[in-house]
Amino acid sequence: MTPATPRPRKIDTSKAHPARVYDWLLGGKDNYPVDEAVGEKLPAEARDAARQNREFMHRAAAWLATQGIDQFLDIGTGIPTEPNLHQIVQRVVPTAKVVYTDNDPIVLAHAEALLISRPEGATDYIEADVRDPGQILEHAQGVLDFERPIAMSLIALMHFIPEEQKPYDIVRNLIDALPSGSYLVLSHAASDLYPELAQQVTEEYAKGGIRLGFRTRAEVVRFFDGLDLVDPGVVTSTEWFKATPAPTPEGSGIYAGVARIP
Ligand code: SAH
Repeated sequence: MTPATPRPRKIDTSKAHPARVYDWLLGGKDNYPVDEAVGEKLPAEARDAARQNREFMHRAAAWLATQGIDQFLDIGTGIPTEPNLHQIVQRVVPTAKVVYTDNDPIVLAHAEALLISRPEGATDYIEADVRDPGQILEHAQGVLDFERPIAMSLIALMHFIPEEQKPYDIVRNLIDALPSGSYLVLSHAASDLYPELAQQVTEEYAKGGIRLGFRTRAEVVRFFDGLDLVDPGVVTSTEWFKATPAPTPEGSGIYAGVARIP
């Protein structure tokens, strides 16, 4: 493990944090009363969305591993929740290597769970911010082979990056560093599927001091510009599947897609 900061930063329990609210939504225990206070105000659909998003990650990661992808760069990993990405892909490819990244000190505090790799493979964690892609890439280049395809996942991350922080430039910088044949896996909360719920969720997070910027389908598709979208394209998280088990058909307020980098 090579944390970007030499000493772990203190966990701030006085205000809500995205990773901890998400952990609460998933039914996890690594959250504090301030996070629960935000979670409890959210509509019940937010818990469904978190579960559906996580299940999309499971299916997308498993499918990529069956395509022979054995290197993964996961940004905005979240608090470990089993099965974690490396557990899914190492079931298919035991030698798979996974680099995890998050900017929340609580994820670093729980990172051991992400670092229990199969002995044939490897996992690694860096505390870093997606808004500093250079730092993430520099670290990942020390662990992964950038001459061979890498699957980069930005799962339920980019809706924390508002327009003025240049989300599209950030993703473009990351994609440009990856070799041909790599993949982008991205999921993102929708502003246009259930607009009233989206508005309510955004307002409740804002009261907890967390800024969200949900996006329309067209705005999410833009992250994949110039890439070859894998079928079925950008759909809702429960509509995306290429690996069994097939998802339960249910409504979802999360867009999801996987694309190959030409
Ligand atoms: N990818 C996981 C977790 C999603 S929750 C999953 O889908 O299951 C979003 C995560 O993004 C949180 O853990 C939060 O700490 C992280 N995050 C938010 N803003 C970030 C940023 N600027 N840089 C890196 N990580 C960030």
